Formats: sequence, structure tokens, C-alpha cells
Amino acid sequence: MAAEPAPSPAGLTDPTVLWAGATARLAAGQLMEAVPLAKLALQGAPDDPRIAVLGRDVGLALFNASLWEDALPWLTRAAGQEPGNPVVRAALDRARLPDYLPAEVTDPRSGKRLERYSPREGDGYIYVIDVVGTCNLRCPTCPVGNTELRPRGFMDMPLFDQVLEKIRRESPSPSPVINLFNWGEPLLHPNLPEMIRRIKALGMRAHLSSNLNIKHGLAEVIAANPDELKISISGFSPETYSRTHARGNLELVKANMRAVRAEIDKSGATTRVWAGHHIYKTNQHEMAPLKAMCDELGFGYSPMAAFYMPLERVLENLEGRENPRDNGIVAELLRTPGEARAAAALGRSDRFDCELRFNQTVINHDGTVALCCTVYEAQNMLGVSFLDEDFAALEARKYEHSFCDRCIASGSQYVPAELEVITAHLQPAAVVDPT
Ligand code: SF4
Ligand code: SF4
Repeated sequence: MAAEPAPSPAGLTDPTVLWAGATARLAAGQLMEAVPLAKLALQGAPDDPRIAVLGRDVGLALFNASLWEDALPWLTRAAGQEPGNPVVRAALDRARLPDYLPAEVTDPRSGKRLERYSPREGDGYIYVIDVVGTCNLRCPTCPVGNTELRPRGFMDMPLFDQVLEKIRRESPSPSPVINLFNWGEPLLHPNLPEMIRRIKALGMRAHLSSNLNIKHGLAEVIAANPDELKISISGFSPETYSRTHARGNLELVKANMRAVRAEIDKSGATTRVWAGHHIYKTNQHEMAPLKAMCDELGFGYSPMAAFYMPLERVLENLEGRENPRDNGIVAELLRTPGEARAAAALGRSDRFDCELRFNQTVINHDGTVALCCTVYEAQNMLGVSFLDEDFAALEARKYEHSFCDRCIASGSQYVPAELEVITAHLQPAAVVDPT
């Protein structure tokens, strides 16, 4: 006897049932299930005001999940229906490919056309100027702690001024973000306040990331009013902190967090301050107390899974080669590099370009240029000074660098996830029951 066809889920074509199902899934945070139901609801009743609201909420939920390319059609529709909604407008503006970026590029090494997207790391072109070529700490997840140290030094002011002037002339975006750090602690630089002032005088944005293990100069830095200060922190007890921020002093960090608040109040600085909490298996219980302190001080708080760097050590780890200098830290990560790559692969296709080469230029303290912010070793620099070649020539050098081949082959490039790719892995069934 022939098998009976499986009955369709009740209400599959009824927009009201679909709307209710999608709304409930969205409220439960089940974005993957909500989206196909919302699409069906929209097809069935495009003019229903309840479904218009649902579409807006789907767009914002996709945006908040960093699925910006999937969010775009929903946000575009919502902006048409609610032109005065500032939240929708801001999300749409951020999710759109900015005007200064070409939509595609041909990778000269593979011959493939790769799509660009709105960069996640910043809403303008990013110049990383590593003004201090080293750090006072030795974190085992960082090349300063787990790799043989490269030559150290501070960028001098004449070089800094020339770099800044060249950025002013050729930046793709009118107000680039200047990160004054990469593998160095910027607050060690004696001229940091003046550097911040010069960046801002040129209409650019000055961003800092600091471990806050410093004893002098904080007041002057805050008075210079950097646009952003990220406090990079791991544990929130001396035991966990001293392991993952090796050589660091948590009490000094806490005192400096309070000093930052006081200096902002005194100077009227408008700096956005936030703590980036690096989460390991060993410090998950410390999120609440650090968040409480940030709340008290009026700082943002963003927990993030700690990751292993630099990229050279990541690729070795993926190839099964251990690093004797990492002090066993890989076992304490929430995800090993291999697990992180496997998880990322579930959401990505190979159609996108890496934003660390299309939206970023990294300048070392001696003026040389790195392939991207994740690499550390001499062979992964571009072999030229930033002042010696124009933007197009430096970008060409990045696209010709063979290390990107190895990075891309391992799935380590920086590209966004896509809903369809995630759904294909998580949800083999074609139909979601709306009830
Ligand atoms: S504080 Fe930052 S730059 Fe310094 S060693 Fe740690 S991770 Fe590296
Ligand atoms: S593909 Fe990899 S090595 Fe190349 S720029 Fe991107 S992250 Fe860096």
C-alpha cells in the first residue's frame, strides 16, 4: 500500500497562524525558526499591519545577531513603512555596504569574485597604528606572551605625523577610525595624549584598547578625549586575572577604572568606555561582579569568548602542532581554535572577502605595514613602509600575499555568517510547524 502523504502543519497558509508562530519564536529567541514563518506570513498578507511590525522585529533581530546581509531586505521594507523610526534607520545605515567600498573584488590568487559587506569591526575604514611595539603584560593567548618577541619600540612623533597626514590624504572613508594599538599597550606611549589630539584635530576618530596596568598619565589621556576606550580584562579575581593577564595587577586595574570615571567627570570627556571581558572556562562566574562594577561606573560591558592569537599560532594549532610557550592556555578556552573554526564553518559560505584586508591597514611602530591585525611574524608583513606606497599599491600587496591562502584554506578569514548556511546545517526539514 502506498504511504499516505504527511499532513501539512495546521495553518501553514493562514497568515494569522503564521504571524503568531513567528512572533512566539522571535520572543523565544528562536530566530532560525521565526524567519521562514515570517516570510510565509508576509507573502500571505503583505499589507497586514501586524505583519509589518513582525517584519521590522525580524529585521532588527537579524541585525542584532550580526546577520546583516539577511537583515537588509527586512530593514529596507521596515524603513519604508516607518520612515521616522530611528532604530530601524540606524540599523539599516550600518548594515548597508558603505559607499566607499567597491561591492566586489577579484582575488588575484584564486581568480574568484568575492563580495564585500558592511564591515563589522567599524563604521569607517580602520587604520591600526601600533604606536607601542610591545606590552607590559604577557598574556598566554597573545603573541607578546606566546611567541618570540619581535623588535620593540615606540613610534616617534615625526613618523606619526607623516603617517597621519598620509591617512588624511588617502583614507577611503572621510572619518576613519584610528586604533592606536595592535600588539602593544598604547598607554605606555609618553606622547599618547598629543597623538589623540592630532587625530581628532583632523576629524578622525581615536580608539584605544588598554589593559589599564599603568601608574601614570591616565588623566592626560582622558583629557585628550579619545572617542573610545576599551578596557581589556579577563579574570575578576587575582587568581584568574594573573593567569590570563600574566604580570597584571587586578587591584591596579580596578583603581584605574575608578580613576577613568573620575577623570571623565572632571574633564567632561565624551569617551565611550567599555570593558571587554575575555571569558575562559575558569572565569565565567566573574561576569556578574565585573558587569556590576561597569554599571556602577557607567561603562559598557561586553563579555566575549577569549581567543588564541596570533594567526600563525592558530594555524599551527589547527595543524596539530602545540606551542610550548602558551602555558597550556588552549585547554582553558571555551572553544579551542579547532572547535571555533568548526562552529564558524557552520554559518559561512565562501562568497565573501575578508574585511581585515578590505577595510583595514595595519602600521607597525616602525612604519612598516602588516598583512592584517591578526599576524605577528616578519614573513607576514608587507615588506614596505606605509609612507613608501600609496593605498592602492599597499592593498595590492595584501591581495597578493600567500599567507591569506593558508588562512582561507583553514577557514580562519574574517567573513560574516549567513542565515541560509546556518539553517542548512541546523534544520534539514524544509517546513517549520507554525503552531
Ligand atoms: S594586555 Fe593585550 S597586548 Fe598585552 S599581552 Fe595581554 S593581550 Fe597582549
Ligand atoms: S584572509 Fe586571513 S591572513 Fe588574510 S587578511 Fe584576512 S584574516 Fe588576515
